[in-house]
Amino acid sequence: MFNETDYRPTRAIIDTTAVKHNVQRVISYLPNKTKLIAVVKSDGYGHGAVQISNAALEAGAEMLAVATPDEAITLRKHHHAVDILVMGPSPISFAKVAAEQGIMLTITSAAWVKQVNDQPQFDKKCKVHVKIDSGMGRIGVRTESELTNLTELINQSDHLSIEGTFTHFARADEKDAEPTRLQFKRFTQLVDCFPKKPRLVHASNSAATLMFPEYALDAVRFGVSLYGIAPSAAVEKKLPFVLEKAMSIETELAYVKKLPAGEQISYGGTYETEEDEWIGTLPIGYADGLKRSLEGQEVLIGGRRVPIVGTICMDQCMIKLPYEYPEGEKVILIGRQGDEEITIEEWAGRLGTIPYEIAVTFSARIPRVYR
Ligand SMILES: *Cc1c(COP(=O)(O)O)cnc(C)c1O
Repeated sequence: MFNETDYRPTRAIIDTTAVKHNVQRVISYLPNKTKLIAVVKSDGYGHGAVQISNAALEAGAEMLAVATPDEAITLRKHHHAVDILVMGPSPISFAKVAAEQGIMLTITSAAWVKQVNDQPQFDKKCKVHVKIDSGMGRIGVRTESELTNLTELINQSDHLSIEGTFTHFARADEKDAEPTRLQFKRFTQLVDCFPKKPRLVHASNSAATLMFPEYALDAVRFGVSLYGIAPSAAVEKKLPFVLEKAMSIETELAYVKKLPAGEQISYGGTYETEEDEWIGTLPIGYADGLKRSLEGQEVLIGGRRVPIVGTICMDQCMIKLPYEYPEGEKVILIGRQGDEEITIEEWAGRLGTIPYEIAVTFSARIPRVYR
């Protein structure tokens, strides 16, 4: 969040209109009966869970999902009525709180259910979604007998009631559709074993939502693409509609100097000037999420690309300028300026990781400014 007392010009600008656009486009792309669950775990993939959930709900999302109990409690303080699902495991001690606060939990273990059932009566039942592991190998029941055992325990329970069931795809972002088809088949076979079909049957993450609209079922759990990020390069090539990016990272030139040839820049002297060079200093470093290994990555100034030179420091870094720019000149690390754009995907490619990891690396020291 941005405060008037944030004096450093390094900021994450969050465009909630882009989020609304992405929500509206995906809703019109999906079958009418399919609900959109906005996934806002890890503080809305670094964008701010409260602001993003406000935007998503305004644009037509009907439910929120997070990874942990604490994330659900934080959201519940801001959204009193909307359904919130915790998709990851919850401790037994959370079941009562979840029941009181109307937070839905993900259930995978009979031992968990038995221990909750042994607790004193709750005032309200806790609504749960039974997780099916159709091939992710993370959490969830894998066999019909495990599922039947679990549903019987829940159906006899005074504490819990079945609200939904879901699975999670491991490879929906790849070119090869076969692993996802197999997972969907295994999932639907197990869903058929429920004594009564749960109200919400859901499977798709962003990649599956975009690539396999036929698997939309009652709801989709739309995460990374809510923020305008394609889950992978394979999906990006086949997007059914344009995603609008919600986050940009900007700062200003803090200092500018001209160095003669043969001068070294920053720790370790990894960069040496070859001629007279204009070097700018930016007030952003690896403690903000600008990873040290991004040395050489370009930033935008005056609508053109210039490289980060020398080792990135904890709080600052240097860039090579084509000529003198005034201190205070705007610099874009992620985002668009003129005809140029630097994306989270570009950083991810350079760092050998996925855009998800980049989105959540921007630290709390970078204020989020909402537009
Ligand atoms: C994070 C997560 C999602 C959202 O995935 P995206 O690829 O970001 O859309 C959906 N379901 C589960 C279980 C998750 O953990």
